[in-house]
Amino acid sequence: MEKFVLSIDQGTTSTRAILFDKEGKPRYSAVRPVECLYPKPGWVEQNPIQLFISVNDVINEVLIYSNLTINDIECLGLTNQRETTIIWEKATGKPVYNAIVWQSRQSQGVCDKYEKYEKLIHEKTGLKINPYFSASKIRFILDNIPNGQERAEKGELLFGTVDTWIIYKLTKGQTHATDVTNASRTMLLNLHTMDYDEELLNLFNIPRCMLPEIKASSDDYGELSFLDSKVHITGVAGDQQAALFGQTCYEVGESKNTYGTGCFMLMNIGQNVVLSNKGLLTTVAWKIKDQVTYALEGSVFMGGAIIQWLRDELNLIHTADESEASALKVKDSNGVYIVPAFVGLGTPYWDNDVRGTMFGLTRGTNKHHIVRACLESIAYQSKDVIEVMKKEAHLKLKSLKVDGGATKNNYLLQFQSDILGCEVNVPHCLETTALGVCYLAGLYTGYWKSLEDIKECHSYQRSYSPKRGKVEVDELYKGWKKAIKATKVFRVNE
Ligand code: ADP
Repeated sequence: MEKFVLSIDQGTTSTRAILFDKEGKPRYSAVRPVECLYPKPGWVEQNPIQLFISVNDVINEVLIYSNLTINDIECLGLTNQRETTIIWEKATGKPVYNAIVWQSRQSQGVCDKYEKYEKLIHEKTGLKINPYFSASKIRFILDNIPNGQERAEKGELLFGTVDTWIIYKLTKGQTHATDVTNASRTMLLNLHTMDYDEELLNLFNIPRCMLPEIKASSDDYGELSFLDSKVHITGVAGDQQAALFGQTCYEVGESKNTYGTGCFMLMNIGQNVVLSNKGLLTTVAWKIKDQVTYALEGSVFMGGAIIQWLRDELNLIHTADESEASALKVKDSNGVYIVPAFVGLGTPYWDNDVRGTMFGLTRGTNKHHIVRACLESIAYQSKDVIEVMKKEAHLKLKSLKVDGGATKNNYLLQFQSDILGCEVNVPHCLETTALGVCYLAGLYTGYWKSLEDIKECHSYQRSYSPKRGKVEVDELYKGWKKAIKATKVFRVNE
């Protein structure tokens, strides 16, 4: 009888369940939106119970629509929004506070207090001190509930990121565990020892007894306690790492880029920790059996968002899809460069005081040149991040695997391939996050025997090879760098 792997993807805006077959093809899926709460400016919270209900709903819906029972499921994979922090009572399983979502800035005050430890934290965890990560959120909750610290020290409270919370609930409290990738976003995991760091726990005054056990990404997380099943959860990873695994970036130097509102890049750097001096994060990519693989991570603030801006603010296009046809109406961008520093510049420039710019306008500039320059800016920004990754890890970029909404745009991906000078591949299944934990879960149970086995069933719908010569590419990129330099001159806070 054919068996399937069920992946759950608990994201910031929705929860999804996707049923995959042995070829790694999605067969059925269900989705539920999840609500964000904004109690104060800059604060973002979610109701943990609602998150769990949405997981139950999507599992049930997929089973009903597919006409399958839980016994047709080989195993379960779980991927999740990272860093979001939940604390609950051990005795009752009830949350003591809302989930504090990764984006939320409410623990900025906590981070400010620890600024002098920035170097220490970076060396141990690979992260920059920032309210994104869980440590300051845990501190915030313990400081803002009655007797928080005391109850945590007595072992009455448990902490988890979203993976841990969902697993705890799905196993009726049998498993209090997290996987290495999620643990690496708490700002409490020492990347060198792969355990919570005693010095950091002391610094943040977080009792070890409230933290989940750290497990491999492909491991047994226990049995589902409902639907009368014997199905186990056997694959867990944070969303970006799951996407890297789902993109089969198993070799050192292989990288993925997600072109969504922003862009998220991860590069497999192998078994050694590389710390970045240019603002990249170092993170755990996955752990399989006893082997840990690390990754460098970088992001671009304005990716597909620049296309939304063209559509909604400038009305130069009606739909995002139209941007491709518009860009192709002209033979080049006619010397126009757009630097989308709308909210400042991220990796590797890290400059909050600059804003968006446009250079090289002439009487011949038309709207298509501007649309083209916007698409190119997404590729240039991605190249900036990748160049830093290559330099810091002393690696060559083997290939770039891509996903996300803007990968529909052939012009963008061809230009990306041209300026990187490497192949850009789009997989058949664009749900790479869910696919990643499907692969990790199936690897544990023997559904897939090895990484090679997975690679064999993984297929691509489109590939782009570089079409421009090095001289032309160097000239174009030189123009981009000049535009960046000029952008940095006009400062908003001076
Ligand atoms: P997110 O997960 O961040 O919401 P998605 O992966 O759904 O993002 O991608 C949406 C983004 O992709 C939007 O910013 C949109 O402008 C951009 N986008 C969608 N289609 C295209 C296209 N054909 N060309 C360029 N950008 C596109």
